Amino acid sequence: MKELEAKIKEIIPMTHNVTSFRVEAEGEIEFKAGQFLQVVLKTMPELKRYLSISNSPTEKGYLEFTKKITESDFCRTLKNLKPGDYLKIRYPFGKFTLDESFYKIAFLSGGIGITPIRSIAKYVVDKNLSTDIVLLYANRTVEDIAFKYDFDQMRKQCPRLKVIHVLSESREAVEYKSGRINAQIIKDSISDYSERKFYLCGPPAMVEAMKNILVTELAVAETSIITENFQGY
Ligand SMILES: Cc1cc2nc3c(=O)[nH]c(=O)nc-3n(C[C@H](O)[C@H](O)[C@H](O)COP(=O)(O)OP(=O)(O)OC[C@H]3O[C@@H](n4cnc5c(N)ncnc54)[C@H](O)[C@@H]3O)c2cc1C
Repeated sequence: MKELEAKIKEIIPMTHNVTSFRVEAEGEIEFKAGQFLQVVLKTMPELKRYLSISNSPTEKGYLEFTKKITESDFCRTLKNLKPGDYLKIRYPFGKFTLDESFYKIAFLSGGIGITPIRSIAKYVVDKNLSTDIVLLYANRTVEDIAFKYDFDQMRKQCPRLKVIHVLSESREAVEYKSGRINAQIIKDSISDYSERKFYLCGPPAMVEAMKNILVTELAVAETSIITENFQGY
């Protein structure tokens, strides 16, 4: 585990309630796409949260984390920070990473659970890996989709990346599926689902529900499922 006194380089609003923070990280910053870090705010007592790294190791010079902004003390302090301010970063942690021997993978995610997936997808695209990816990404409305522009750009660059947005409260355009991620949507969107390794990320209740659908309704082996639980939601 490493510790970094990191200067905030850039703060990027992603949606109405999600913000990305980039901190300077020059030199040898080693992490794998999909891992997470711990942000420690310089308060008394210290406020800290585990957050996934949302950039890819191919994007050099900074580490990015992306926080869903809530009313917590942690978020209130974070929101007041400006470029040039410092915070402490401990990294890297976690095993929600790409196994390059998997030729076909599928990501199932909702809301803020997209952060490590964005990192892995960007890594695959930048490295021009042969990994074939389908992402099913659930949100309430179009306005809640984080990293939409990034994924649109990545899809243009990489024909092996398919992104399907599933919206529970909106029926506005044919490019989106309406409803929630369920067995039927998985079967319709990922016809070769039985050949894929599944990566699930989001709040624990959502991850559990997705896993249940895969195992009990679609007979996907538990060994083909890799999960990351965002404890705290
Ligand atoms: C591996 C991992 C990766 C994550 N990645 C992201 C991410 O990319 N983006 C994101 O927004 N969130 C992520 N989370 C969730 C994040 O750590 C926070 O739990 C969540 O954002 C809620 O914190 P809050 O300050 O907004 O709300 P709060 O209301 O403060 O948190 C909700 C509840 O969780 C408790 N809690 C939160 N964090 C901790 C902790 N570290 N230890 C003990 N209790 C805690 C709080 O006390 C409270 O009861 C991740 C969590 C994990 C475990």
